[in-house]
Amino acid sequence: MISKIDAKKKISELVEQINYHDELYYKKNYQEISDEEYDKLRRELLELEKNFPEIKLKNSPNKTIGKIDNNQFRTIKHNSPMLSLNNAYSIDEVESFYNKTFNSLNKNFLILAETKVDGLSASLRYENRKLKIGLTRGDGVKGEDITRNLEFVEGIKKKLPSEFPENLEIRGEIFIKKNIFEELNKKRKDQGKPLFSTPRNAAAGSVRQLDPEIAKERKLSFYGYTVIGDKSFFGNSISKIRDILKIFNFSLNHPAKLCSSLDEMVKFYKKVRDMRSSLNYDIDGIVYKLDNIEEQKKLGQTARFPRWALAHKFPAENAITTLKEVSFQVGRTGTITPVAILGEVTIGGVKINRATLHNQDEIRRLGLSLGDTISIQRAGDVIPKITSVVKKSIRPVKIIFPEQCPSCGSELYRLEKEAAIRCINISNCKEQNISSLVHFVSRNAFDIPGLGERQIRIFWNKKFIKNFSDIFLLEDKVINKKIILKDIEGFGEKSISNLFEAINSRRNVAFDRLIYSLGIRHVGQGIALIISRKFQNIEKFLSYFIESKSEEKIEGIGEIIINSVTSYLQNSENFEEIKKLLKIINIKYESNISNKFTNKVIVITGSFQSFSRKVIEKKLIEKGAKISSSVSKKTDFLFCGEDPGSKLEKAEKLNIKILNSEDVIEEIND
Ligand code: AMP
Ligand code: ZN
Repeated sequence: MISKIDAKKKISELVEQINYHDELYYKKNYQEISDEEYDKLRRELLELEKNFPEIKLKNSPNKTIGKIDNNQFRTIKHNSPMLSLNNAYSIDEVESFYNKTFNSLNKNFLILAETKVDGLSASLRYENRKLKIGLTRGDGVKGEDITRNLEFVEGIKKKLPSEFPENLEIRGEIFIKKNIFEELNKKRKDQGKPLFSTPRNAAAGSVRQLDPEIAKERKLSFYGYTVIGDKSFFGNSISKIRDILKIFNFSLNHPAKLCSSLDEMVKFYKKVRDMRSSLNYDIDGIVYKLDNIEEQKKLGQTARFPRWALAHKFPAENAITTLKEVSFQVGRTGTITPVAILGEVTIGGVKINRATLHNQDEIRRLGLSLGDTISIQRAGDVIPKITSVVKKSIRPVKIIFPEQCPSCGSELYRLEKEAAIRCINISNCKEQNISSLVHFVSRNAFDIPGLGERQIRIFWNKKFIKNFSDIFLLEDKVINKKIILKDIEGFGEKSISNLFEAINSRRNVAFDRLIYSLGIRHVGQGIALIISRKFQNIEKFLSYFIESKSEEKIEGIGEIIINSVTSYLQNSENFEEIKKLLKIINIKYESNISNKFTNKVIVITGSFQSFSRKVIEKKLIEKGAKISSSVSKKTDFLFCGEDPGSKLEKAEKLNIKILNSEDVIEEIND
């Protein structure tokens, strides 16, 4: 335990830091540290204040919920306080919440789990069923009057349905959809304005705008999650409130699930955490709420948060750091990719010192130079990317693109209509060669554990492996004493035999994996799957592209891809290599994948809150469905989102099975 003097010093340091960041966050809608770092500061302070209650400072941020900028908006007292939520970062903390709830109620209970929308909270006050006042959360007791800025927010109703009580308050979250955020930043970039670092900051900045015209341009959205006031019309639980709001066409945050056990809560959390990048709005966690309102009252609240709810936060995705250097990598198709070398930061427990920069246009778009302070984002397993420049360096250094391939020295080209610069020395560029081998053995391709970039580099340098087939010939060569592995550092007898075992276990490969493994430009996993289903076997596949040059179109595959596959296969080196491979591997063909969408014709109409249509299409194709753009007698299902077009009418006439957006979420998450 630290001494009282040290504690006092530390507390005042923390208070100062937190107040500084609060000031930025609440008044300037701007962040210099990640949410995770911020929460850490707050926790540290809370802990110290608990251990040394006598030195709690007057200006401690733990005394208030938020901040109000008195200079901007008129403030109005909330009908009932707008509280914050208690946060949890681990399953243990969720379990302890669950157990506490059980101990207080002494009986089984239901928990509604829903997404925690990362925007800013708003309270909409209706009088005589008309929208009267909209308030921000402010400090929880008083909020800022943002009514003028709500006029054009999608999802906010000006009038309540006549069945609703006359006076009511709807609480929810104002946010900006991801695609709109991107458009907004693009426009700001073109206009030379500073970029918003996250959709949340953009939403906050737009709502707290004195000029309603600007708020209107920003295309904000609103999801409601509860009502305040006379709830008798809605029933006695939050899930019922949500049901009724939904029936009356209010916009709600999806997905949500009513859970009857801790296990179900955690499952839902994990499921949403893993699919959240496909949602069109940012979320920073799951909120668990005791469903029954009487039970909520029993548990009550503290000054800062209700005891009946908990926010289970996702690991942070954003961090702020500096751009130290840019290096240039040669990809498997010769593309030169700039890679940002960063000051090391930790995001969600993972150390990060690199980020992808895609291409020259991306660097220009971001307005990036060496030395800049930048915001980075990491979503799931994907490579982190730079989202914006937070602060320009005082001495910025221009990023210069190479004119020769950093691997083979040949001249680089920028093909027409392409953002990428590439090395076209296909067969003799070492890095291209190595990258395509690394791709070939990677997880979604042949998936050979123990054979990664490091090993491939060693084998390549020793000329043991040059082509794909060499991987499967490695063991024979060792047996025949043509090559010796055991003298190489890190290749003991055990690891060599493990390696061979891994390689041999992968001689049976699914057809779509094989196609993907070849690393043909524009042929990702999805396209490989479509191709594999279309051609059914490798002979048909090869002959389509090589011999017959058929005119027949392939659904879901455009000209660019066809050309790319054709030129890949018509290159005799590639073709010979595939023939060699076929002698030493076995292709597994899909015989009976069947689920309810296999071979079904599906038409999609309207928009979906939770998924973009592209994502839905991709998932359906994975399930073997065919996507069609118009409804006919042949259509099996219509996926119907919000604001459906005339397709809905037609489908109804033809008696086609219609799935609404709730069903769609269920189905495609299966
Ligand atoms: P915090 O911002 O960490 O204090 O968390 C509390 C805030 O989460 C609330 O004031 C709401 O603005 C926000 N929030 C986002 N989604 C939800 C939700 N589904 N239910 C309740 N609060 C939510
Ligand atoms: Zn090269």
